[in-house]
Amino acid sequence: MIIFDLSCNNGHRFEGWFQSSEAFDAQNAKGLVSCPSCASGEIRRIPSAVHLGGAHGSARPAAAPANTAVTNPGGGLLGAYRQLMTAIMTRTEDVGAEFADEARRIHYLEAPERPIRGQASEKEFRALREEGIEVFRLPVVGKEDLN
Ligand SMILES: [Zn+2]
Repeated sequence: MIIFDLSCNNGHRFEGWFQSSEAFDAQNAKGLVSCPSCASGEIRRIPSAVHLGGAHGSARPAAAPANTAVTNPGGGLLGAYRQLMTAIMTRTEDVGAEFADEARRIHYLEAPERPIRGQASEKEFRALREEGIEVFRLPVVGKEDLN
């Protein structure tokens, strides 16, 4: 199964599980995919921010600095962002302050390959990048908002 991030023509974002990319295309062409928010049948795939290790296994650790905040008062953007964050939170393992060490262990095959998230300082983040480890930063919305 593959998780696709989808968006309707009204800009609602949601996730869909499909057997394959072809299965999504076929179902979408038949109008079988619709938006859970507005029932629109005009659905397109949007590039996913998180790549999960699958059959071809590629772990992409995600670094979430603890001291970052996003503000967007009254914005729909934040809602969409929260959904995305929730998706990331549910699909990654929280290794907290061990992030840099664990990302390295995964990179050097000393730990099971999987998506992880945690805190990394600017310095650690840069060091990981320099070692060729794929990490990216996520601005963090307050944890309580994500549940
Ligand atoms: Zn919609």
